[in-house]
Amino acid sequence: MLTRRVLIKAAAGTAGAAVAGPARKAEAREAQKMPEKALGLLFDGTLCIGCKACMSACKAANDMPPEPNRILEDSSDAYWDAPLDISGRTLNVIKAYRDGTAEHKDEVDNGFAFTKLSCYHCVDPSCVSACPVSAMTKDPHSGIVSYSVDACIGCRYCVAACPFGVPRFTFESSYPKISKCQLCKHRLAEGKYAACAEVCPTGATLYGHVVDLKAEIERRRSLAPGAPTDFPRGKIGGTDAYRGTAGQYVDHVYGETEIGGTQVLHLSGVPFALLNKPNLPSEPPARVAETLQHGIYHALIAPIVFLLALTGLAWKNMRSDKVEHGGEA
Ligand code: SF4
Ligand code: SF4
Ligand code: SF4
Repeated sequence: MLTRRVLIKAAAGTAGAAVAGPARKAEAREAQKMPEKALGLLFDGTLCIGCKACMSACKAANDMPPEPNRILEDSSDAYWDAPLDISGRTLNVIKAYRDGTAEHKDEVDNGFAFTKLSCYHCVDPSCVSACPVSAMTKDPHSGIVSYSVDACIGCRYCVAACPFGVPRFTFESSYPKISKCQLCKHRLAEGKYAACAEVCPTGATLYGHVVDLKAEIERRRSLAPGAPTDFPRGKIGGTDAYRGTAGQYVDHVYGETEIGGTQVLHLSGVPFALLNKPNLPSEPPARVAETLQHGIYHALIAPIVFLLALTGLAWKNMRSDKVEHGGEA
């Protein structure tokens, strides 16, 4: 039974905790780990020929409408699907870097290079952490970051939280929702895999378990630039290969450490800064934000319990008054 003594004790204890609470060190939450069987993509810019077959395949596989290019709007080409960026209608784009005469592939001066933009399927995703209703989730086995339109309340916290600017809101639709790559998870049940990787003629986009993709990255980086080699095409462990030559890579695998690592990894012949890849710390923002949040909640629990205890005490006093003045018991 809640006695006056218990209430006073709770109130006093809580008051102490309320004072001591903010001074206590917030418990840091651990950064999430890459699942053992994590699935992902490797994009090797040195193999990409800019054909954009992966963009068309992504549209077809995900039933996305065409997106005419704003620059071509008044021309006879206005109806072609030619998105400049990811959007509510486009989950995957190939973008180009160009300098000067753009004569040399994967060179900074007078060169050109290609890069891909789609969801990175972060190991410790900010979008999942920011979503207040778990509409963004990360599969504990495959690590695929998924979106549920049924759970979404349209707050767009995920849009603001993603450091890569990936989730897009379909403002133009009568039933807006978030749009982002879900690694073609709907195709897995049919024995298929990421459509962008399946159609890529050179293996520039490659699908597989992240552990195998990382081994392939190491193999490529250990080759002498220009050395002839077979690149797996489609998915790691498949039978298809593309005969090419090893690239001259910059000394950075994009996604290996960024915000705690991602399941989509990039190799490039030009610095990632030139490809508009954000320069991010290795610390996952989701871990930092949740650590702070838990600290604040922790500090807030004390005053809330204190308030509840005082309310209970006042209610009990009111009941005692009624009894003493002959009211209901
Ligand atoms: S299909 Fe492959 S080669 Fe063609 S643009 Fe896409 S990643 Fe590059
Ligand atoms: S890239 Fe953005 S949308 Fe994709 S998992 Fe990471 S935080 Fe989420
Ligand atoms: S994995 Fe599927 S949804 Fe994601 S970019 Fe590739 S084709 Fe598009």
